[in-house]
Amino acid sequence: MNYSYFFDYETQEKICLIYTLKCNASCQHCITKSNMSRNDKIAFQPAKEIIQTASQNNKKAVIFSGGEVLLFFDEIVELTRFASLCGMDVMIETNGFWAESPSAAKSKMELLKQNGLKTIFVSYDYFHSKFISCENIKYIADASDDIGLKCEVMFTRSNNPDEDRAILQHLNEKGFSFYEDDLLPFGRACDMFGDSDKKALAELNVCDSFATTFLPNGDAFACCNINDENTELKMTPMYLGNINHNSIQEIFQKEKENKFLRIISDKALTDAFMDFIVQKGLHTEKLEKEYFSVCDLCISISSDAGCLNAIEEFLQINSKGE
Ligand code: SF4
Ligand code: SF4
Repeated sequence: MNYSYFFDYETQEKICLIYTLKCNASCQHCITKSNMSRNDKIAFQPAKEIIQTASQNNKKAVIFSGGEVLLFFDEIVELTRFASLCGMDVMIETNGFWAESPSAAKSKMELLKQNGLKTIFVSYDYFHSKFISCENIKYIADASDDIGLKCEVMFTRSNNPDEDRAILQHLNEKGFSFYEDDLLPFGRACDMFGDSDKKALAELNVCDSFATTFLPNGDAFACCNINDENTELKMTPMYLGNINHNSIQEIFQKEKENKFLRIISDKALTDAFMDFIVQKGLHTEKLEKEYFSVCDLCISISSDAGCLNAIEEFLQINSKGE
């Protein structure tokens, strides 16, 4: 079954802290190009301030992601406790390196749960299998059953269908709840995409990755499909500012006022907006090309001043009768 606890929350209710880019693994498809030599990390105190301000702005859930966040286990336990006290649900994404035995898995997960953790997402697929044993995933799933913690495996399809089939069969046989994530043409995965992977507009999924996302360098974005540099995304309305230059409240306020998000999160509105800007003769050259993903489309139109200027008029027309 394809579902995820991450989608229990409305798009505007979630925040994501890319807590670190350090990782014990260095997967071929990693969009943040994480590895063990990276030291980029959100400092503990700013992380608390982000969480507190988020809760004051009606955010309901926080996900800690990276990199491998449980390389900083004690800090994540403390931040989990703090976020819970602020009234937020807490989720963690991990590669499961720390679950080397049933007892190691259970003791760490018990401590996280006692401090308020609601859900644990474990990444496992062909790419992760080069670094982490599937036994670790089993220990985590068993412990989650034991202690009553929600757990979900996040699986990304590779360019190796035989390996994918074998891993999926294994996940199914073990009865794991898993969610299939898209392989994205960012970070180290860029080299894995060619022109034959491009899709037509009608084939693109709707964007479902909204979560106010904070990075180790202080940058904040309105979506969580960030990569290691974000050069293009930074030129779009998805960029909300930097906590070293803007107050955290300013960042949340900027997100609330973001009209482009309203369009890209709704497939019908996105299609109607595309028709609208084509009819207006805006950047037909870009619009005629095909796209790797909805992010490719999104960045193309949202980094174009002409298209952005058309948003206000488009929303006025499309809000008539609402
Ligand atoms: S995909 Fe996850 S586990 Fe793999 S290198 Fe990136 S952060 Fe680490
Ligand atoms: S479609 Fe746009 S808003 Fe959505 S995840 Fe991709 S870049 Fe972010």
